[in-house]
Amino acid sequence: MKKIIANLKMNMTSREIKDYLLKLIVKNTHKNQIILCPPCPYLSLAKFLLNDSGIELGAQNISDEDEGAFTGEISGKMVKDCGAEYVVVGHSERKTKFRESARTINKKIKVALKNGLKVILCVGEQLTDKNLDKTKEVLKTQIEDALKGLYENELDNILIAYEPVWAIGTGKTPQPKEVEQSVKYIRQVICEDFSPKSEKIEVLYGGSIDEKNASSFAKVSGVNGLLIGHTSLDVDHLIQISKSV
Ligand code: PEP
Repeated sequence: MKKIIANLKMNMTSREIKDYLLKLIVKNTHKNQIILCPPCPYLSLAKFLLNDSGIELGAQNISDEDEGAFTGEISGKMVKDCGAEYVVVGHSERKTKFRESARTINKKIKVALKNGLKVILCVGEQLTDKNLDKTKEVLKTQIEDALKGLYENELDNILIAYEPVWAIGTGKTPQPKEVEQSVKYIRQVICEDFSPKSEKIEVLYGGSIDEKNASSFAKVSGVNGLLIGHTSLDVDHLIQISKSV
């Protein structure tokens, strides 16, 4: 069973989310584990509608603070309370558009774990890194900065999404072989930093996945699932992907 994470990003209204979910519940075959990440205002609605459908919920973001005078922020405790089991941390859109630092990502992971959320940690190189043959170096730094200070048993609640930044929303994708190498390297870094037992950490691929290319990435050795952005806005496409992997 693969994990299929659908990141709806900042899209849809409550009406559209409702229609989307009702269609998804009917069409989902339960073969794979779908984790839906709607915008935070719709988490409770989604939780209510999903009920015992088997589809799980994730938040797209949380604050790196616990609670208090942080106007406009949404805490880990709140998203958990609204029904989220997961939270995406370190997404490249947050790093580039909201200037989230490595320290913030590390803090968010700790806040998430403290509140009983599982973390979907996104890592990946920029095109310039790839062209300079620095993908491994970048992945190692991102992983080590993000997981600094964590205990080995906390890795049970971490999933890594390998998302080359240049592949997100661009229609460009790496070769499956390149994904295999990066995923293997991600596990190697984690095993070196923690212990060989950490090899069981789940690693996903994300970046311009669609109905046509999904299976080629899902069957890459070592890949436990997919993180899907814009394609997941269409339920039929999401279901087609889930059926094809
Ligand atoms: C993402 O948002 O993490 C992502 C992979 O987006 P897209 O599928 O649109 O490239």
